[in-house]
This record gives sequence, structure tokens and C-alpha cells, in this order.
Amino acid sequence: MNLREALDRRRADGLLRTRLTLEGAQGAHVRVAGHDYLAFASNDYLGLANHPALAEAVTQAARRYGVGSGASHLIVGHGHAHDTLEQELADFVGLPRALLFSTGYMANLGVVSALVGRQDEVFADKLNHASLNDAVVLSRARMRRYPHADMGVLERLLAQSDAPRKLVVTDGVFSMDGDVAPMAELLALCERHGAFLLVDDAHGFGVLGEGGRGILNHFALASPRIIYMATLGKAVGVMGAFVAGDADCVETLIQRARTYIYTTALPPLVAAAVSASLAIVREDDWRRDRLATLIQRLRQGLAAGRWRLLPSTTPIQPLLVGGNREALELSEALRAHGLLVPAIRPPTVPRDSARLRISLSAAHTLNDIDRLVDALSSLN
Ligand SMILES: *Cc1c(COP(=O)(O)O)cnc(C)c1O
Repeated sequence: MNLREALDRRRADGLLRTRLTLEGAQGAHVRVAGHDYLAFASNDYLGLANHPALAEAVTQAARRYGVGSGASHLIVGHGHAHDTLEQELADFVGLPRALLFSTGYMANLGVVSALVGRQDEVFADKLNHASLNDAVVLSRARMRRYPHADMGVLERLLAQSDAPRKLVVTDGVFSMDGDVAPMAELLALCERHGAFLLVDDAHGFGVLGEGGRGILNHFALASPRIIYMATLGKAVGVMGAFVAGDADCVETLIQRARTYIYTTALPPLVAAAVSASLAIVREDDWRRDRLATLIQRLRQGLAAGRWRLLPSTTPIQPLLVGGNREALELSEALRAHGLLVPAIRPPTVPRDSARLRISLSAAHTLNDIDRLVDALSSLN
């Protein structure tokens, strides 16, 4: 099949993806093609992506450090701003050491392929993020997938394995469902079966736990078996990612993680922006409190109507539709009401489970939620 035919088929199946072009900053209100929209679409859960303190930190860091880092971390790209941030991140999540990566996608590829290889086995939740799946393929380890959050199947797979190294990988908060992984049960299984546990807290960091310290704090978990990864482009509002764990684990990543070694370090001004953001994440409990209020308002508002939200206590509130075209049509109908809510289709989610991914931000108001509920109710 030539490329054009493949694209045409994608369009006919309601699977063609397109981009919107924002004309201004990320936020609760965005401008696209000359129209203003109330948006429930970003991962900017705390409303920090356009915070003036972050922009100011970038300006000051640019004066001090310039723009480009100019090299990879292991040559001469590692600077004071990166070093300071790594220490802050490790302290914040309560782990011995942290290592910065340029993106979460790269962090996952780097960690998994540094820790396991051909002889080893990786146990993965079926709803894990694509980057974790790609990471296992790159590592060449054997991948065993278990049904979403099914601890019984995971236990059986672990018990059957005689791989020299076992690694369980899971999203902390599942990115398209919004539910939270059973972390205590996962850790108990890993301890019983001598496995490492990699948790990808892309959607929990900044949102869950005391001061936004993330999912480990939320469940009060600590173990040398845990390798913690979180991203800095979502609730933190900047970009990048980090992996934290015990000192030997992080040193192993510095020696072996190819997506750390063979790539240019983040600009120091990005690290400075993350440091500035972290101070706000830690201090501004009102942002997490506001999110809790908004989540409750949305769920109550839709409880009696036709539309069904998946069970979720996080800012990710998916509205299950089913068909691809139906999900697109609902998204477009909301668009006509001035609301931007993206339709998520396979392969990002399983077949026949296309949905609207409503994502909430501390930048939203109760009135914004009411507008969304009213528009959805009018589309019955
Ligand atoms: C967004 C996301 C990533 C990728 O992080 P980036 O920094 O955007 O590359 C990884 N894992 C999960 C669960 C995510 O949602």
C-alpha cells in the first residue's frame, strides 16, 4: 500500500490526527484560528505553564547562562542549574539521587534499556503509556503484559519467571483513564518476587501527595526496589523529566542510559524554570485544593445525565464514547460551543473505547466547569 492510500484509510476510519495551532500561551483559554476557546485539553494541571515567575526565571537564567547547553551532560553540557535542580528534585521526592532527562519519553527509554536486557523480563500494565512499551522493545527484554491493574495475573507471571532480572513497569496515574495504580500491592509483589518497580508518575507529580510530592508520598511508600520517574512538562509547566532512586541506580543510568548519554543537555534556562516552578508547586496548596473542588463539580454535574465519566479522582476525567467517529463528532460539537476537549482514539486507547479526555487545571473556575457541563447536557 502506498503512503497516500494508507493515509486515506486512516481518514476513512476516523483515525487521522491533526494539529491545532495555538496563537498565544497555554492556559484555560486558548486562541486557535482566530477563535477563543475554553480548553480542557492540556496537562498543565496546576496552571503554571504561563506563570510570570517561570518566565522571569527563564529571562534571568538566559542572561546568566545564555541559551544552549552546547553539549551532552557527560561532555561539558552539565551546569550548575542542572545540578541544583537534581538535588532539589531528589529532596522533594525523598529519594537519594535524581537524574534529569530531556523528555519523559527519553527517560523511559533510557531507564528500561539501562536496567534490563535480552535475558530479562519486564512486566507491564496493558494501559501503560506508549513510551514504556517502546522502552521495553528497545531493551530487547521479554515483555509480559498483564490486564490493567490485575495483581492476580501479575503475581502468576512473576512466580513463573526465572529471568535474572525482573522489572515491573507501570503508570502511576494512567494517562488516558485517570485512575491510580495499586502501588502498595505492586511493591509488595515486587518485594516478594525480587523485582524492581519502575513507576512513571508523569500525571501524579505536582498533583498527588503532600505539597505535590507525587505518588510515593501519596501512598507513603519507600523501598530500594522503587525507581521513580516523573515529567516536568505537565503539572510543573515546563519540560523535561527526571528519574530518582538509590545512588547505585542513578549511577548506573549515568553510565548506561543511552538517551541520557547521547543527547544534548536541556538548556540551563529550562532547569532554572523548573526550579522556580517547584517552589510554587510546593507552596501553592490552593492549586491542588482548587483541582479537587473542580473535579467534584464536574462529576456531580454529569452524574445524572447521559454522559459517563470513567471512575477517576485525578484531573484526568475521561468521558467514554466508544466509536472513533462518535468521539470526534462530540468533540466537534463542543468546539461549536467554544469548548476544546480532545477526542482520544486508538491506538492511544484500546479499540471501541474512544473518549473525550477532559483534563482540568487549577486555572479553571467553577464557572468554566459549569459551561462544560451545560454544553454536554445540551448535546444529549
Ligand atoms: C507524557 C507522558 C510521558 C512522556 O513525557 P514527555 O516529557 O512528554 O516526553 C511519559 N509517560 C507518561 C505516562 C506520560 O503521560
